[in-house]
Amino acid sequence: MVGHDKTDGFETAVLGGEEMKNYFLPLGGADEVGASSYFLNVDGVRMIFDAGARIHGMEVYPDYPMLLQYIDDYGDIDFIFLSHAHYDHIGSYHILGNLAKNAEVLATKATKEFTKLQLMDFGRMIAPEEKEVIKRAKYRQAEAAINKIKIIPVMRTLQREKCSITFYPAGHMAGAVMVEVKTQNHVIFYSGDFSIRTMFGINQMRLGESRPDIFLMNATNAYQAKKRMKNEYTDLSQILENKIKERKRILLSSRSIAKHLDLFYFINQNIDEICLRAERPVSVYITEQSEKIGNALADLGYLVYDGHIRSGRVPEEPHILIGEEMKKEGYEAIPFDFYSLHASYQEMKLFIKNENADVTYLLHTKPKFGEQNLADDFKRSKTFQGSVIQACNEQVYEIL
Ligand SMILES: [Zn+2]
Ligand SMILES: [Zn+2]
Repeated sequence: MVGHDKTDGFETAVLGGEEMKNYFLPLGGADEVGASSYFLNVDGVRMIFDAGARIHGMEVYPDYPMLLQYIDDYGDIDFIFLSHAHYDHIGSYHILGNLAKNAEVLATKATKEFTKLQLMDFGRMIAPEEKEVIKRAKYRQAEAAINKIKIIPVMRTLQREKCSITFYPAGHMAGAVMVEVKTQNHVIFYSGDFSIRTMFGINQMRLGESRPDIFLMNATNAYQAKKRMKNEYTDLSQILENKIKERKRILLSSRSIAKHLDLFYFINQNIDEICLRAERPVSVYITEQSEKIGNALADLGYLVYDGHIRSGRVPEEPHILIGEEMKKEGYEAIPFDFYSLHASYQEMKLFIKNENADVTYLLHTKPKFGEQNLADDFKRSKTFQGSVIQACNEQVYEIL
């Protein structure tokens, strides 16, 4: 039984007769990778971190309606923070941005631009079978939602009535941030997707100075203790080098617009060295569809074409082709979207120790039962005082 009670100015959710003033509720993206969206109500500040979507499955979007079991109206949401523009973090923003009509929405410039590019310019919120009038209505809504996003710089604290907010660079991809929110009695830190190392020099990860008591961590590799990992792109470089040595024609494919930017960065920064190690020069070509994405990114000011990528007819001899399709006749396909910059198991463990929060929620990871994992490691630790919890979708966690 869920009800509502208004006391001392804060709306408090009442669950089973007990009041919860502060609680955490993952709407999606907790025990899975996809549809990240995390609701937190602390000291009367109601905030949502990310508004993602799933690529596969029936339920593409996070379960926003379930929020209404806890709050009276979507209009009660005070803040939406978009950590970065991968689809699993922004793919349902056109919906949430409209529902949460009074929310202040904050993101970096790059995240806002990439969100618009994916949802609107490349129509990723539209299903092919949708009627024209539905499409038009969706575009109007998405435009209103995107116009609402306020751009804020990293490393500068914003003061608001009930809290202060700071963005810290997160590595991972261009524009990616971690979010610190200080309320009356709590310090909340949301990592978003992060990486200790980065391909994006200007976006090197930096940490806040305050110790958070609530740490929401995107713990992608929380069940990968044994995975050998320098930087996942190192593995990709090795695979490419081998295929080049075998004189294959290689299709480097990405189905994601935001990941295309990572792909262009990867090629521009690594291809010379890969060819050198393979002792064979190869040219990199691009399909017409991927070139459209490249051009849009170049228009936004990103370095896409620096002499490494050619367009036009592909030659007979071995080469690399950048494209959106997953396979192509005569090519050996390498799916680029499998690779991304994430911290390793050991790095995440150090991060949790370093933050030393009272409670750390592990998010953005698929639990593998029976596998060594961060939550169990910390449960056994005699020195670490806080609790580390694997969070589950649509489960509510009271914060004391
Ligand atoms: Zn990401
Ligand atoms: Zn993600």
